[in-house]
Amino acid sequence: MAFTADRDQTLGFTTRQLHAGYNPDGDTYGSKAVPIYQSACYSLKDIDNCIDVFKFAKEGQSYSRFENPTNDVLERRIASLEGGVRAVSFGSGMAAITNTILNLCRAGDNIVLVKTIYGGTTSLLTGILPQYGITGKFVSNPDDPEAFRAQIDEHTKAIYVECLGNPLINVPDFEALSAVAHDAGIPLVIDNTFATPYLFRPFEHGADIVVYSATKYLCGHGTTIGGLVVEKGGFLWLNGKFPQFEAFNQKYRDWVGAEKMDREMFSQRLRQVYLCDVGANLSPVSAWLILQGIETLSLRMREHCKNAQAVAEFLEQHPAVRSVSYPGLKSSRYHALAQKYFPLGCSGMMMFRVNGSQADAASLLEKVHLFGFMVNVGDAKSLITHPATSTHFGQPKEVLEGAGIYPDSIRLSIGIEDKEDLIADLKQALDTLV
Ligand SMILES: *Cc1c(COP(=O)(O)O)cnc(C)c1O
Repeated sequence: MAFTADRDQTLGFTTRQLHAGYNPDGDTYGSKAVPIYQSACYSLKDIDNCIDVFKFAKEGQSYSRFENPTNDVLERRIASLEGGVRAVSFGSGMAAITNTILNLCRAGDNIVLVKTIYGGTTSLLTGILPQYGITGKFVSNPDDPEAFRAQIDEHTKAIYVECLGNPLINVPDFEALSAVAHDAGIPLVIDNTFATPYLFRPFEHGADIVVYSATKYLCGHGTTIGGLVVEKGGFLWLNGKFPQFEAFNQKYRDWVGAEKMDREMFSQRLRQVYLCDVGANLSPVSAWLILQGIETLSLRMREHCKNAQAVAEFLEQHPAVRSVSYPGLKSSRYHALAQKYFPLGCSGMMMFRVNGSQADAASLLEKVHLFGFMVNVGDAKSLITHPATSTHFGQPKEVLEGAGIYPDSIRLSIGIEDKEDLIADLKQALDTLV
C-alpha cells in the first residue's frame, strides 16, 4: 500500500495542495506533517557523494542556503499546483523578482513592463538595477499588445506583467503578450501573486516564468514573508539571446544531465548562481508556514472571491463612491478578459474612488472598525489602505496616474470574514461622506 499522492499530477488541485511534494514514508519518523528542518548543514557522507552534490549531479543537501528539505517540499508543491517543471524559493517576493531579473539580464539589457505594477518592482527597475546597467522600459498603453512590441529592442530579455495589476486590478491579454514575447525570442514573466494558481494558470496562457510574493494569498494569514519562482519548462534559452545560459550549459550540462538541463535550465541557473551565491534563501520555518497556508488555498480563494464580488457590487451603488476597479463587475472594462482568464473569480483585491477629496478618502481609514489600516494584501483578514499616502507615497503625479492612483483612491484586500459584516463596516464609513 504505497502512498503516491505526493507525485500524482492527475489528482485535483485541492488534493495536490495538501499532498504534492511530500511523502511521509520518506521521512525517518513517518511524520504526517511536513517536518521543519532547521539545520544549517547536512552530512556529506563520503567524498563521492560530496562531489556529486557540489557539482549538482545529485539532488541532495549540503548547506541550507543552497537547498533545504522543508523548502524543497514547498518548491515541489507550488510546481505541482502551477503545472511547472521546477520552482525555487526565496526569502521574499522581492528577492524572487530581483533574482529572476538578474538571471535574465546582463548589463545593457532591459525588461519591458507596465506602469500598473507593484511599487517595489517599479523601484527595482527604475532606481536600483539601472545603476548596474539593467533597465525597465515601460509601455504607454498596457491594454495594447502592440505597445509592448514597440518597446522591444535587441537588448530586451523579457516581458513582465502582473496577473491582476496592482493596484488598478487591470487584466492584461496574456495570450497576446505571450505571442509578442515569443516572436522576439524572449520569455513572458508573470507575477501571479494576486490570483494564485487556483484562480489563474499562467502556463496555460503562454507564460514561461511565474513569480510570487508567497507572503500574500499563498501563505494567506499575514504571518510570513516569502517568495517563489516557477518555471514552465520548454523555453529555448539557447536561442542566441542569452549568452549567460550558453556558458552555464557548457559548464554544467554533463554534471547535471542533458535531459534535466534542457527541462529546467532557468531554475538550475537561478539556484546555482543566484540562490547559492547571492543568498536570499527562505527560512525553513517560513517555508513551513507557507505550506500550512497552501493546504487551504482553494477554500480561502473561493471565499475571498465571493466576498469581493459582493463588496464590489455594494460599493458600485453607494452614492459616495465615484468608481470601482474590480474586473468581476460587469461594468469593468476588463470584464471580458476576466471571464476568459479568471473563470473562478478575480481574487479579493479591488480599488475604488470616493466622491470627494484626498481628506475624505483618507478619513475612511479611520472610520472603519473591522478593516485593518495596513499595506499588506491577501490576508484572511480584510485590509484597507490609501495608496497615494502609503504604497505609492511620494511618487510624482504622472507616475501615480499612470498606475491609476488618484488622491481619492482606496485599495481593499477583502478577507474571508462574513460578507455582511464587511459591507456594514464600509457602509457606516461611506455614509458619513454623503
Ligand atoms: C507584496 C508583493 C510583492 C513583493 O513581495 P514581498 O513578499 O513583500 O517581498 C511583489 N508583487 C506583488 C504583486 C505583491 O503584492
